[in-house]
Formats: sequence, C-alpha cells, structure tokens
Amino acid sequence: MKKKNKQFAVIGLGRFGKSVARTLTNMDYEVLAIDSNEERVQGFSDEVTHVVQADTTEEETLKALGIRNFDVVVVAIGEDVQANTLTVLLLKELGVKYIVAKARNMLHGKMLVKLGVDRVVYPERDMGQRVAHNLVATNVMEYIELSPNLTMVEVATPRILVGKTLAETDLRAKYKVNVVAIKRGEDVIVPPVPSEKILDEDILFVVGDTKGIHKLEELD
Ligand code: ATP
Repeated sequence: MKKKNKQFAVIGLGRFGKSVARTLTNMDYEVLAIDSNEERVQGFSDEVTHVVQADTTEEETLKALGIRNFDVVVVAIGEDVQANTLTVLLLKELGVKYIVAKARNMLHGKMLVKLGVDRVVYPERDMGQRVAHNLVATNVMEYIELSPNLTMVEVATPRILVGKTLAETDLRAKYKVNVVAIKRGEDVIVPPVPSEKILDEDILFVVGDTKGIHKLEELD
C-alpha cells in the first residue's frame, strides 16, 4: 500500500518509542526508528519502514540521516536525560520543523520547553491521570491535560444535560468550558450549534478550564 506522505522519525526504542513507531506504521506513515542499542534495533527491524542504529547525540550522525527532512521527530529517550536533552538541542540547531519529546519529570519538561520543543509528553503522568479520572468519574472516557489550566475530556452525557440545547446547558458561563464536538452513533457533529439538543447516548468532547472540567465530571 502507498504510504502517506508525512514522514516521522522516532528516536529511542523503549516501550513508549516503540508504541509510537508501531502506531504510526499501522496508520500507514513512513517511520524511521533510531536507537543506539544494536539489540533493540535488530528486534524492531520487521516492524517499521526503516530502523537504524545510531547515537543521536552526534551531530554528524543526525546530518547523515537527513533528520531535518522529517516532518516530525519524536525523542523517546527516557532514562538518559542528558542524551535526551542533547538530542533535542541538536535537532533544534539542525532546523527540525516539529519536535515531540518525552520528559522524565516537570523540571526536565520545563527545560525542553525552553529549548523550543513543540510538544512535551509525560507518558506515565498522562496515563495515570486518565486512569484515575476514569476510575472516579465513570462517564469520563478520555482525559487530556493540554496545559495546567486547559483540559479536554470525552464524556458520556451526564443525565442532567439530556434534552437541553447546548445554549440551555450554559456550560460556558457555569464552568468556562466549550463543547467542541458531539459524537452521536456513527456521526460526529462538529462544531455543534447552540441550538443543538443533547441526546441520551451522546458523547461530548469538551475543552476548557481544568477546574470547570472537574466540576463537569461530577455531574450525574
Ligand atoms: P520506556 O519507559 O518508554 O520503556 P525508558 O524510559 O525505559 O522508556 P530508555 O530505555 O531509557 O527509556 O530509552 C529508550 C531508548 O533510547 C533505549 O532503547 C536506548 O538505547 C535509547 N537511547 C538512549 N540514548 C540514546 C542515544 N544517544 N541515541 C539513540 N538512542 C538512545
């Protein structure tokens, strides 16, 4: 099958990096996977388009790989913060367009933002948050903290909202959140108009103030 034309490179084949690379491959994107560890490279050779053994803290190596031609580079080096950070620095210097990097902790994350990383991810923290929110609020299907004050959730419609139009729910004024899409069976209504009536089986995609989202989660 013809590959989609956005090209990704994933550096570091730990559990997170492998999962990112596999998922992109399954979505028919071309992926170059890179790791300095020969065994990891060998073990992954059947799974993605290209896999190479390389140390990404070496500028010449990155240049030789043509790394700046990739649309997105994901830095998934975990334990070795120095290798992670140095790789990011070199990618920035080489002019990579969009860098996603995994942070080990908040301080590391802050540093990555300062270096100009476009998206910092904290896989363990993010997954922990999702599981916890799903445990306490069973109507929450997906929880993503976009920044400390801004969160997005996918929720089954609380009973109290069923039968009301979006305007009538007054969610914007009450909770400082917006319904950006409604999933109704196979259909997705995006963006919904204020006069859209919420039905029992609807799934709402809501973005807004984190505190407001938490209040919304508590609605029954
Ligand atoms: P996960 O939690 O996702 O399994 P992890 O935090 O255990 O990941 P590590 O195993 O520390 O992550 O790092 C992921 C991979 O990054 C390892 O396979 C390691 O060989 C690779 N790696 C480390 N340093 C470099 C480097 N300088 N260049 C390329 N790959 C590197």
